[in-house]
Amino acid sequence: MALIVQKYGGTSMGTPERILNVSRRVKRWHDHGHQVVVVVSAMSGETNRLIGLAKAISETPDPRELDQMLATGEQVTIAMLAMSLKSIGLNAKSYTGGQVVIRTDSSFNKARIQSIDESAVRKDLDAGSVVIVAGFQGIDDDGNVTTLGRGGSDTTGVAMAAALKADECQIYTDVDGVYTTDPRVAPKAKKLDRITFEEMLEMASLGSKVLQIRSVEFAGKYQVPLRVLSSFDNENDGAYDDDFKHNVGTLITTESETTMEQPIISGIAFNRDEAKLIVRGVPDQPGIASRILSPVGDANIEIDMIVQNVAADGTTDFTFTVNRSDYKKTLDLMQQIGRDVGAREVTGDDTIVKVSIVGVGMRSHAGVASQMFRTLGAEGINIQMISTSEIKISVVVNEKYLELAVRALHTAFELDRVTGESRAQA
Ligand code: ASP
Ligand code: MG
Repeated sequence: MALIVQKYGGTSMGTPERILNVSRRVKRWHDHGHQVVVVVSAMSGETNRLIGLAKAISETPDPRELDQMLATGEQVTIAMLAMSLKSIGLNAKSYTGGQVVIRTDSSFNKARIQSIDESAVRKDLDAGSVVIVAGFQGIDDDGNVTTLGRGGSDTTGVAMAAALKADECQIYTDVDGVYTTDPRVAPKAKKLDRITFEEMLEMASLGSKVLQIRSVEFAGKYQVPLRVLSSFDNENDGAYDDDFKHNVGTLITTESETTMEQPIISGIAFNRDEAKLIVRGVPDQPGIASRILSPVGDANIEIDMIVQNVAADGTTDFTFTVNRSDYKKTLDLMQQIGRDVGAREVTGDDTIVKVSIVGVGMRSHAGVASQMFRTLGAEGINIQMISTSEIKISVVVNEKYLELAVRALHTAFELDRVTGESRAQA
C-alpha cells in the first residue's frame, strides 16, 4: 500500500464528465489499496474568467480581494470531485487550502507556502477516505485567503506530498511525460523515463512548460518523487509494484535513482524569446559593468547571459541578453547609458535564440562542450555567445538556425536513440 498524491489540471477538471473520469481513476488506485490525496485546479478557463471579471471592475484589482476571488475556482472543483467520488461509492472529503491548513506568507497573488498541518487529512485517509485538496491556495496568519501564482496547483500537489511523506506525487497532464526536447521542433524527440530534479529545473526554466518551476524546486528540496503522466492513459492505474520501478510517464527524482546507462545529455531546451544588446568600446575601468548593467536591473528588466571582452586598445565590449519583449526598452536605455559612459557604439539584435544542452552526465564527462560546438560548426551555424553551468551549456544563435541546431544536437548526443518504452510520440 502506498500513499499517493495525484494532481489534476484544469483540462482534466474541465467538464462534469471529465471529473467523473478523474473519479474513476482515483477509484482504481483506491481499489488497489492505496491511500489517495487529490489536488485539483479550477475548471479550465475559470481562473482567466475570474481575472477578467476583476479587471472589469478595476485595472489594478486589490490583491487581497483578487485572491479571495481566484480561490473560488478551485473551491468549486474540489466539491464537484468529492460529489463525483461519492456517487461511485467512495468516501471522499474536500478541503480548501485554509481548511487543511496550508499556511502561507501574505504576498497575495504569489504567496509562498510556509507550513502544512496534515493531521486532519491523515486522519481521513486512515479512516479510508479519499481526500481532495484545492490547489493554488492557502491562508496567511491573519486568516486571509492567498494564492500561489499561476500554475500553483502543481506546487500544492508537491507540498502536500512532502508534508504527508507520500510515496509519489503524480502530476496528470495532457502530455505523457517530459521529452528530450520539443517534438514539434525535433520529431525524433523521445519521452524520458527519468530525469533529475536539477535537470528538470534547467529544462523548465528554459521553456519546457510542463510544470510550475516552483513545484520542481520544492520537490527537489524535500526529495518528493514527482511523476508527470498522461491523464488520457488508463492502462497503468493502480498497478504499481511495491518498489515503484516502472516507466510510466517521466519520473523526476534524485541522481542516484536515475540509471547509469543514461546518455550524458538528458535534453535540449531552447528559448525563442531572446534579444541581445551590444555596448562597444567603453573604457575598461572598475565599476563599468555596474554602470552599464545596474540601470537595466533597476528598470526591472531581467538579464540572462553576459559576456565582456577586452580589446587591445584598453576598451571593452559588453554583450548581454534580455527577454525579447524587453528589447526596445533596453535598447533605449542602453543608448542613453552608452552616451553617459562614452561608448563607441550601441547596437542590438532581436532575431536570436538560445539553445541549451542539459545533463548531469556533463559533470563526469569531458568534451561535451567541444562536441556541441563541433556539431553546430559542421552545420554551418555560427555561435554568437556561449555560457556554461555545471550541468548546462547554452549558445546563442540566429533564430533561423533553431530547428537545425536542436535536431543536429539531438542526433549528436544520441537522444534519437534513447531507449525505454517511449510509447506515444506527440
Ligand atoms: N487555477 C490556477 C491557474 O489557472 C492554478 C492552476 O491551475 O495550477 O493558474
Ligand atoms: Mg498547469
